[in-house]
Amino acid sequence: MSQRETLRQQVCDAIAARHDAIVDIGESIMDAPELGFKEQRTAECVQQVFRESGLVFEEGLAITGVKAVLRGSRPGPTVALMGELDALQVPDHPRADPQTGAAHACGHNAQIAGLLGAAMGLAQAGVQQHLAGNVVFFAVPAEEYVEINYRLGLVKQGRTSFLTGKQELIHLGHFDDVDMAIMIHSTSPDVAEGSMGLAPSTNGFLAKNIRFLGTASHAGVFPERGVNALNAAQLALSAINAQRDTFRDEDCVRVHPIITKGGDLVNIVPAEVCLETYVRAKTSDAFLDADSKVDRALRGAAVAMGCRVEIETVPGNLPLRNDPVLAHLFRENAGQFLGGNGYREYSHSGGSTDAGDLSQLMPVLHPMMTGAAGAHHQTDWKIADFETGYVTPAKTLAMMAIDLLSEDAAVARKVLASHNPTMTKDEYLEHQQSIFRRESFVGTQCE
Ligand SMILES: [Zn+2]
Ligand SMILES: [Zn+2]
Repeated sequence: MSQRETLRQQVCDAIAARHDAIVDIGESIMDAPELGFKEQRTAECVQQVFRESGLVFEEGLAITGVKAVLRGSRPGPTVALMGELDALQVPDHPRADPQTGAAHACGHNAQIAGLLGAAMGLAQAGVQQHLAGNVVFFAVPAEEYVEINYRLGLVKQGRTSFLTGKQELIHLGHFDDVDMAIMIHSTSPDVAEGSMGLAPSTNGFLAKNIRFLGTASHAGVFPERGVNALNAAQLALSAINAQRDTFRDEDCVRVHPIITKGGDLVNIVPAEVCLETYVRAKTSDAFLDADSKVDRALRGAAVAMGCRVEIETVPGNLPLRNDPVLAHLFRENAGQFLGGNGYREYSHSGGSTDAGDLSQLMPVLHPMMTGAAGAHHQTDWKIADFETGYVTPAKTLAMMAIDLLSEDAAVARKVLASHNPTMTKDEYLEHQQSIFRRESFVGTQCE
C-alpha cells in the first residue's frame, strides 16, 4: 500500500469510528437553526469539536466564523475545507425555531457535520506529519442572502462591510492565507438525479430595494390630488418585463421582483409602494447590463406617474466557477463511497452562492451530494440518510485533503498551476464596492 493509501485508510477508519458523533452534530444543529451572522450556538458547537480535536482556532470572524488550522510538516499550499453555519427562514418547517422561523432547509447542518467529521478524522489520526502545506477547517457564516435590511443595518453600524459571510471574510483577509477551497452541499433525489454531481457554473447577482413615493389622497373624494405610487410600480414591472426580449439566452438573466408593500389603506391613494428584486446572470457584465435596464424601467415609470423613486442597489454573489481539477478529484473520491456511476454533470445553475465570490480569486469546488429528501428551502427538506448525508461528505472532504497535500502536495500544486484567477482581491473588493455606489440612485421628483 502506498503511503497515500495508508493515510487515507487511517483517516477513513478514524471518521467511521466517529460515525455516531458526526450524525449527532448534524441532527443537533438541525434542531437549533440560526440565521446568518447570528449563528452563535452553531459556532460554539464547532469550537467545541475543534478544542476536543486539539486544533488551534480563531473565532468570531465576520461575527460568527470559526477557522482552525492543521499544519503539515513541510511547506505547501493551504487547502480550506468549508462548511456553512447558517439556516434560512422557513417558519412552517417541522424543525423550525418557533421564535425566529429559522430552519435548516438547505442542509447546511450537514455541511458542518461533514466539516467537523473531516476535522476529527484528519486531526485525530495524526496524519499531518505526512502532509506538505496546511488544511484549514473553516465554518463560515451567512451564505443565504436573506434579511437584507438587517444586514444593511450591520453595514451601516460598521459591524460588517458586506452582506454574506464569505464576502466579509474575503474583505477581512481571512482567505488571504488560503490557496483553494472545497465544500460539499447536500441535495436530494427529489431535486437531482444521481448520488452526486456538479454544475460547472452558477449565476451571480445584485439585489435591489426600491421605493416609489407618491402623494396620498382620499381615493374616492379627491383621487385627482394624489400621485399613485402603486401605478408607478405596476408600470415599472411592465417595463421590466418588456426588457426580457433584450436579454441574451446565453447570459441566463433572471429578474424576479416582488412587491413587499402595496399601499396603506384601500381608501387612500397609495403613497408608498416597495419592491425588492434580484438581477441575476451568468457574468457580471450581463447582470450589470440587465441592471441598467431595470433602473431605466424604474425611472421611466416614476417619470410617467410624476412620482419619486429611490433605488438602493446592493452587491450580491458573483458567478461560481467550479475548478475542473478539483472536480475530477471529487468525482474519484466520492465515487469510492457512492459508486462512480452516481455522478451527474449538471447544467449551469440559475441560482447563486457566495462560494462564487471566492471562485473568482482561487480554485473552488462546490459540488452536490445526496443524502437529503425533499426540496431545498421547503418544508419537506431533511437529511434522510445519515451515512450519505453526514458521514460520506466528511470522508470525501478528508480524502480530498490527503490527495491534495500528500506526496509533497503534488496534486494541490497541479491545481494551482492550471488555475487562472479572474480577479485579484483588490479588484474583487472594488467591483463589489462599485455596486454599492450604484446605490441610492435616488430618482426624480418629477412633478
Ligand atoms: Zn440555500
Ligand atoms: Zn445552501
